[in-house]
Amino acid sequence: MPELDRVDRPNLGATIDIRLFRALSLFSLRDVVGEDASKTLAYAGGKALGRRTKFKEFEEFLQWMEKKSIARTKSFTFDSDKGIGNLILLETLSSAGLPNLGKPACSFETGLISGVIERLKDRRCLVREIRCYGKGDPECEFYIEVLDVPAYLKRM
Ligand SMILES: [Zn+2]
Repeated sequence: MPELDRVDRPNLGATIDIRLFRALSLFSLRDVVGEDASKTLAYAGGKALGRRTKFKEFEEFLQWMEKKSIARTKSFTFDSDKGIGNLILLETLSSAGLPNLGKPACSFETGLISGVIERLKDRRCLVREIRCYGKGDPECEFYIEVLDVPAYLKRM
């Protein structure tokens, strides 16, 4: 997104400590609006961001995620006939290195993936994180299903 590319911080640069992002997305928002609502906000924010992207194909998005230090892709498969895919990410922004919280922690990434796919396919998309560092897993894995419903029918 070109409007976000310009950063005027000659001394501090364009990056921040990701622990600050985690503190905001995992704890501060939770303290303000509660756990469920904070996850919904992180998901919705990621999804809105994903919808604003202009990638021509999903692999381009995966490369962008690595370039932006959001996550590295371990594997991605997608069955176009069934509209079902699987994505495994490493070093995810939201959760890599977290202690076992007993639940997935990558709401932002889940929403982001969903938003990008909805943009690319112009169909609603279900993305569910089925394995996560936050659950004690060694990586984050996402189940992806493109639904046969136009994206404009649901904007969440
Ligand atoms: Zn995760």
